[in-house]
Amino acid sequence: MLIKSTSPTSGNKVRNRLVRWGRRRLEAAGNRLFATDDLTALERGWQIIPQRCGLSRQYRDPRFDSLIRCPDCNGNGATDGWPCPGCRGTGRQTQRAPATAGGGEGHDQDPLAPAK
Ligand SMILES: [Zn+2]
Repeated sequence: MLIKSTSPTSGNKVRNRLVRWGRRRLEAAGNRLFATDDLTALERGWQIIPQRCGLSRQYRDPRFDSLIRCPDCNGNGATDGWPCPGCRGTGRQTQRAPATAGGGEGHDQDPLAPAK
């Protein structure tokens, strides 16, 4: 009687272990490749979303979450042919944050506008 040295289950375990090893190697290579960009993103408070087994990155500024379509011009940036005063023609406004004990500051300031 012949005894198989590997069962289908143990073959799957070996394959899965190889796949995990390969993924870890790819992620490590991606981390080395994007180390400088990741550091810049962290300094700016951006979100880092690794993709494609770590060989690609998506960087996202979370301040975009606070932007809403301007209700005055429905996001068009203009009313009656003139720049919308509610959003100064950008078509977007900053979502109002709930009031804090220390008092809020400038709800309608554009969070993505350059600092003055
Ligand atoms: Zn507007």
